[in-house]
Amino acid sequence: MIPVTTYQDRAVAVFGLARSGIASARALAAGGAAVTAWDDNPKSRDLAAAAGVALVPSADLDWSRQAALVLSPGVPLTHPEPHPIVASALAAGLPIIGDIDLFAQAEPSLPRHSVAVITGTNGKSTTTALLAHLVKACGGASVACGNIGTPILDLEPLPAGGVYVIEMSSYQIDLTFNLRPQVAILLNTTPDHLDRHGSMANYVAVKRRIFDWQAPGGAAIIGVDDDYGQEAADRLRAAGRKVTPVTVMGRAHEGVSVDDAWLYDADISSEPVLSLAGIESLRGRHNWQNAAAAYAAARALGFAPAAIEAGLRSFPGLAHRLEYVGTVGGVRFINDSKATNADATQHALAAFPKVHWIAGGKAKEGGIDSLKPLFGRIERAYLIGEAQEAFAETLDEAGVDNELCGTMDRAVASAARHAGVGEVVLLSPACASFDQYPNFEVRGDHFRALVAKLGSEASAS
Ligand code: ADP
Repeated sequence: MIPVTTYQDRAVAVFGLARSGIASARALAAGGAAVTAWDDNPKSRDLAAAAGVALVPSADLDWSRQAALVLSPGVPLTHPEPHPIVASALAAGLPIIGDIDLFAQAEPSLPRHSVAVITGTNGKSTTTALLAHLVKACGGASVACGNIGTPILDLEPLPAGGVYVIEMSSYQIDLTFNLRPQVAILLNTTPDHLDRHGSMANYVAVKRRIFDWQAPGGAAIIGVDDDYGQEAADRLRAAGRKVTPVTVMGRAHEGVSVDDAWLYDADISSEPVLSLAGIESLRGRHNWQNAAAAYAAARALGFAPAAIEAGLRSFPGLAHRLEYVGTVGGVRFINDSKATNADATQHALAAFPKVHWIAGGKAKEGGIDSLKPLFGRIERAYLIGEAQEAFAETLDEAGVDNELCGTMDRAVASAARHAGVGEVVLLSPACASFDQYPNFEVRGDHFRALVAKLGSEASAS
């Protein structure tokens, strides 16, 4: 655990008791704060109580006595409207912070270290895991944390020289003020979570804030293949900052770029420094963006290109992101359950020339219209969940063969029957999972289990 001593002998309210909330309450208590915590969900309260957290309904708190409100990133801060607890804390003039800010406050007590922060609409977890892996492959100590893995305050401190690689959602950025990352990465920006941020302008402004946190010499690594990233890079440059632009749309004369799997680093050479070809866990142009950004970060942290290349080649990849889960009867099965919007699915479809595509769930705005340019890659679609009829309509209009399967069981069984040797079955739903599953992990695990069952049936027959 990383104790937080900045609120010693003061009262702090913690609201929202998922894993990071419980970790915050414990780290504050260990640092001598008088913590009271609450969650509207009785199950979360039970878990917190079992972890030794003192519970007091936030509505009963004397807000004038609190020094801060530590908020879970899942609780609305500004949009659609502030949660009543947020409103109470604001009325009392309290800082409203998250667990990453508590970590930042605890940093002076930790062995000398660096911090890399990663945000963006898609690819955050992959890039975070990849950068932590690269640091370790280069002989350093590192941990992937933030929106991924163990809550940051539950970690054991890294030894001197370690690198905390922190994935940050826009919600977490909103709750962070004291972090001073040596490396900050903005991967990409496309419309998402606008219900929580009010407008695209607001969402973009939140994401860009990670660069404002940095000291002037901090490494600012920005994916410039969307207009928002390009604009963020231009603005920083205009303010006198050095920016490392990342593009995967062909070789560039500055920053880090990827052309046909060759990675170029303009700071080093006009020749490619390494090749991303044949790295299964980094398949697809979208993963080249993640790889190029992680490469740039590893360079900024002082590691050598050859060691970074070896690290890229040994990256195992993350579950539920274009995860290869097995081959049955010559058909390859790929689990991309994490693709909860059409934008993420677009990259998955683009990674394979022909697919049997399992999609559907709880639809996001815009459906799959944006995927039309890739429909030629779909051999046949197997549709599930609430979105199945709407998706079928879009596919029918475009003449794409499809089937209303309803459930994952039926979709996997049918896809396995239709797909031939050498073909790919891809689960990349372009939808949230909540109509049929608690989260995308359970959905992906179900898919993986069904594929394993197919495999054992095939070997038994
Ligand atoms: P995040 O943590 O931002 O949600 P992940 O690394 O978990 O991102 O990937 C989520 C999904 O987004 C994956 O299923 C993948 O298909 C897609 N994806 C990954 N990297 C990128 C990228 N750089 N650009 C666009 N989509 C991506």
